[in-house]
Amino acid sequence: MVADKADSQNEDKKEMNILTSTRSVIKTALDKLGYPDEVYQLLKDPVRMVTVRIPVRMDDGSVKVFTGYRAQHNDAVGPTKGGVRFHPDVTEDEVKALSIWMTLKAGIVNLPYGGGKGGIICDPREMSFRELEGLSRGYVRALSQVVGPTKDIPAPDVFTNSQIMAWMMDEYSRIDEYNSPGFITGKPIVLGGSHGRETATAKGVTIAINEAAKKRGIDIKGARVIIQGFGNAGSFLSKFLYDAGAKIVAISDAYGALYDPDGLDIDYLLDRRDSFGTVTTLFDDTITNQEMLELDCDILVPAAVENQITEKNAEHIKAQIVVEAANGPTTMEATKILTERDILLVPDVLASAGGVTVSYFEWVQNNQGYYWSEEEVEEKLHETMVTAFNTIYELAETRNVDMRLAAYMVGVRNTAEASRYRGWV
Ligand code: GLU
Repeated sequence: MVADKADSQNEDKKEMNILTSTRSVIKTALDKLGYPDEVYQLLKDPVRMVTVRIPVRMDDGSVKVFTGYRAQHNDAVGPTKGGVRFHPDVTEDEVKALSIWMTLKAGIVNLPYGGGKGGIICDPREMSFRELEGLSRGYVRALSQVVGPTKDIPAPDVFTNSQIMAWMMDEYSRIDEYNSPGFITGKPIVLGGSHGRETATAKGVTIAINEAAKKRGIDIKGARVIIQGFGNAGSFLSKFLYDAGAKIVAISDAYGALYDPDGLDIDYLLDRRDSFGTVTTLFDDTITNQEMLELDCDILVPAAVENQITEKNAEHIKAQIVVEAANGPTTMEATKILTERDILLVPDVLASAGGVTVSYFEWVQNNQGYYWSEEEVEEKLHETMVTAFNTIYELAETRNVDMRLAAYMVGVRNTAEASRYRGWV
């Protein structure tokens, strides 16, 4: 089972650099929108990329020095915004690409933000609570001059959660000498977090799936769904779809996948998963992630890591709809193959925009000091996602482009326009 993880990591490294492929779609999108090359020259990289070294006193008394990054893609529209991931595979290029995707997400759901992203090379699965606290606080100390509620607002991402947001908020508030809940989103409710933030990405994906299913005449009730990844997005998503009557035929984590053509008992699996989303290690009868992706189903949701659907397996995908809950799970070559095969691909920057949408609601509530009900958050999220989905779907139809390119066109527009008004390009 561990081999599955190692294999997929080696595969990842061989795949085309995600920054290079992101740039090429940005370039095509800007060309289609009629922007000159200088706009592309500005947007192909973050305006600021900071590398920090974070010394942490470990439990055994030694000091370990971690490397962290923060990319601020573009702040023409407003402060930059985006999560911080803690993962051993974090690279500079990945963080840069992820910051560009945050600009696109913010543009797609029309938020007054530019994109930002952070990452620390570490393995939180092997760190104690105290060590993680030291790392989280150290990251904020190292970046305190360039982040803040009106500059750059972090949030959770892969392997970071509301506890980590709480430590980071506390550290920033100490430095700032004010209680600064608006510095970060995804906080616990008692510290100014928003109702619905924890489930927001999965709720947004569910809304995107419902809209896509309508277009393809698929009834969610009884639809066969495969979900890759059982972290924040994948686990809540499996629950929402299961409760809506879908048949979740397979799920996976980093170590393998579980398959049952009659549908898995999601409540049981959710009950058994650990806090990092691992559950398959409890079972003997597993298949690999790669085998799972090629199984028969109606809807496939990659909700784990990058480069999962590639030119090697795109021909074998059986789903009618692929909805990207993870960032960057499908390569550009695979996007082309799926589109040619008339598989409806709902791109990451659209499908997973629910997280940053509710982060924005959280920040607005922090700024107002006035808090909304869960119903209010859900209603606004629903409206935002349905509008974004249909705008992009229609643009894809009228311009005869795939939904990824249409999403990039919609997503990049606000930032390109704002940069021009400001006289930057
Ligand atoms: N990390 C999430 C994302 O990639 C959320 C970012 C945010 O809430 O700012 O969309």
